[in-house]
Amino acid sequence: MQLYNTETRRKEEFTPLNPKEATMYCCGPTVYNYAHIGNMRTYIFEDLLVRTLRLSIPLKHVMNVTDVGHLVSDADEGEDKMEVATAREGKSAWDIAKFYEQKFFEDFDALHCTRPTVISRATAHIPEMIALVKTLEEKGYTYHTSDGIYYDTSKFPRYDALVGRSRLEGLKGGARVEMSEEKRNPTDFALWKFSPKDKKRQMEWDSPWGVGFPGWHVECSAMAMKYLGPTVDIHCGGIDHVSVHHTNEIAQSEAATGQKYVRYWVHGEFLVLRAGKMSKSGGTFVTLQTLRDKGYDPLDYRYLCLTAHYRTQLEFTYESLDAARKSLQTLRREAAKDVQTAARQPLPLTARLEEIKNKFRAAMEDDLNAPKALAVVWETLRGAELNAAEKVEFLKFADGILALDIFRAPQEENNEELPQEVKDLLARRAEARAAKDYKKSDELRAALAAAGYAVKDTPQGQQTEKIK
Ligand code: AMP
Ligand code: ZN
Repeated sequence: MQLYNTETRRKEEFTPLNPKEATMYCCGPTVYNYAHIGNMRTYIFEDLLVRTLRLSIPLKHVMNVTDVGHLVSDADEGEDKMEVATAREGKSAWDIAKFYEQKFFEDFDALHCTRPTVISRATAHIPEMIALVKTLEEKGYTYHTSDGIYYDTSKFPRYDALVGRSRLEGLKGGARVEMSEEKRNPTDFALWKFSPKDKKRQMEWDSPWGVGFPGWHVECSAMAMKYLGPTVDIHCGGIDHVSVHHTNEIAQSEAATGQKYVRYWVHGEFLVLRAGKMSKSGGTFVTLQTLRDKGYDPLDYRYLCLTAHYRTQLEFTYESLDAARKSLQTLRREAAKDVQTAARQPLPLTARLEEIKNKFRAAMEDDLNAPKALAVVWETLRGAELNAAEKVEFLKFADGILALDIFRAPQEENNEELPQEVKDLLARRAEARAAKDYKKSDELRAALAAAGYAVKDTPQGQQTEKIK
């Protein structure tokens, strides 16, 4: 398989360190709020990688859950995102973490992302993090400030490994403005932060340096190396993690072990909105539930993600989501026709089947070219190279990677081609239900019935049926 490696800036042939099992670490969610569909794009691309790698080798896949230590600013300033959420929601940090972790995995499962082999919570690995910081201290990479233990990046020559020297200089320049006086270098970062003296934190632990909590970067290094050893084959994340989070992970891990930390760095590009960045404050925060409430199926969104290569930005619009939904429904209808034809005329499978499967697989193994793989699916369905029985076999194989429920009965498709008036009523009803305004929700149900639609509430959101 060919993979683009952020570190070497080129596509490389992937070979695992251990020929019996490949290893992969993915940065998981920070569980202080709902995940947005941009976050979910990253997990979908990682799932494509998991499924494609497993065609040729067993894979141990580790993902963390960041439930402490991710600060509001990358410059080790500001509050912990978890503690900010406690103030917002009036719940304990532990309850918030539990709630949003559960919500996250509901979306993860609904998008057919494969559950990782190991899911590791940061709060369950504090001793491992303290041990890593101790090793760094013994090796002379750390220093004390009034608010924590910091990593001295000037002592690690490979600090520019991911970003390159020129960009690193730019980062330093940008960081200087907000650099605290006690930091020795602008790129230095906290390994352990002390709890503030004037405020009681909900999540804090004893350490050799004082009561506090781990820095976000050290969490991933400690957990990745605990489960996968000092050298990990593949480490994934969104593109935003390259210049700080992953750069710092390399610095800590390699300084501690003296070995290469990650062999292939694989990063997914962002999902963007025309209005710019997806932001939790600016009203441009779209979650999978937002899409469900508007009558979409989570797999419509998965299809949309498959139409763009993971290393290109994808602009999210409802028009493109509508197009994705239509294509997926057509795909399911065509698959159903082939199933029927194959049942009527069970023709034998020929060598052509393997050839087409390989064509599909080659696209995925070419740095996860999902758009090309989808094109192979469409060409095959529309073309006459395979008979119906072969097409069914091919689609089963393809769906093992695409995970689009291609054989779901097309009549289960709901909310298809609804009139605009009905879509608006559904959106208003979803809002009313979210606000627990059940009186309003019932009025809107009656309005929908008057417009000819019965509505049912399911875990996937509202489903409609035309009243005959
Ligand atoms: P977080 O929960 O903020 O730590 O982010 C979870 C994952 O989502 C990380 O791998 C991020 O790099 C990724 N991510 C954040 N925003 C976006 C976006 N707009 N598009 C794609 N991935 C994103
Ligand atoms: Zn991470």
